[in-house]
Amino acid sequence: MYWDYCQRCDRQFNSESALDQHIRDSPRHNICRACDDDFEDRDDLEQHCEDYHDYCVNCRRFFDDDEDLQEHEISQHNMCVTCGKYFSSESNLRNHQLTHMKKNIECPGCQRYFVTYSAMLLHLETGTCDCGIGRERVTELAFECRQSQYYASSQDDFDFECPDCAVPFLYISGLFQHVQSEACDEDLGWHSPLRVFLRFLSGRV
Ligand SMILES: [Zn+2]
Ligand SMILES: [Zn+2]
Ligand SMILES: [Zn+2]
Ligand SMILES: [Zn+2]
Ligand SMILES: [Zn+2]
Ligand SMILES: [Zn+2]
Repeated sequence: MYWDYCQRCDRQFNSESALDQHIRDSPRHNICRACDDDFEDRDDLEQHCEDYHDYCVNCRRFFDDDEDLQEHEISQHNMCVTCGKYFSSESNLRNHQLTHMKKNIECPGCQRYFVTYSAMLLHLETGTCDCGIGRERVTELAFECRQSQYYASSQDDFDFECPDCAVPFLYISGLFQHVQSEACDEDLGWHSPLRVFLRFLSGRV
């Protein structure tokens, strides 16, 4: 008769199935679906699931493995893989992720460092660089470079276009932003037209 007794509730049941039913229904029993451990309240159970299983507390869902859970956290809850923080939107997450990137793009005009080529070029275009270069001169230099045949736009309203997918841009910084984004497959290898332009530029500011 000993197995029909619930110790936690100090209650006797007249069959094993009645005891099972009690454990399922009582708020004093909270069973983990993954390992059958029994917890005294809902919070303890959730804490356990988070710590010991691949479990999303927000969605109350178990996942097959770590990788599945992480994929879910990233796509559904905008989690940053690097630091594990959550964000309210995908664009907030993307902005935040810039803070993890190293500033290793040097401005040829003032030796300040930037996270992306487009940020460095924008800095030159907007005239914030000590070297005093502005948008007009940056655009001029872009056309003086022999590689400009690969990135000059054939459209009247635009100066530049992507060598890979022909999307047009007003400014070279915009083109670099596009090429460095996931939207474009153009690579920035050492011999690519845009990298040649960057070397051309660095000798002239
Ligand atoms: Zn009980
Ligand atoms: Zn468990
Ligand atoms: Zn979730
Ligand atoms: Zn982060
Ligand atoms: Zn500069
Ligand atoms: Zn492109």
